Amino acid sequence: MPWIDEESCNGCGICVGECPVDAISMEGEKAKIIMENCIRCGVCHDVCPQESVRHDSEKIPGEVRANVEMTQRFMDACAVQCGKKLFEREGMSVDSYLELTSTLGIRKEKRLPLKDLEEKVYNVIRNEVKIFLQME
Ligand code: SF4
Ligand code: SF4
Repeated sequence: MPWIDEESCNGCGICVGECPVDAISMEGEKAKIIMENCIRCGVCHDVCPQESVRHDSEKIPGEVRANVEMTQRFMDACAVQCGKKLFEREGMSVDSYLELTSTLGIRKEKRLPLKDLEEKVYNVIRNEVKIFLQME
């Protein structure tokens, strides 16, 4: 489905005149596609000198990135909270912590494993996203 990138549209009106079904109107200085009338012919995309007519598929990587960033923030919070809970509130001993980090392949340190866990989580997510994007 086509959409107009308002940032780059300069309001020249070329697309309005070229659309075969009059599905584009001007709102102020910006073109706007009336989706109910659009027949997806692609003419507006071809004639726009600003390359302002974009497609839904172009939105997807940006949305994926935004979701991944949000997930990373959640995972950070989760890693911090889990680490605190195990290490402090549930009285996890240093030995148990070292055993756990060793099992998980995390570098051993006698402090909360925040940075290491963050890196581990980020790498897992990055690999997942990479695989996802390669499948598209
Ligand atoms: S895709 Fe075709 S029908 Fe739809 S707005 Fe563009 S020119 Fe008009
Ligand atoms: S042709 Fe492009 S720049 Fe001109 S009004 Fe249409 S979308 Fe905007």
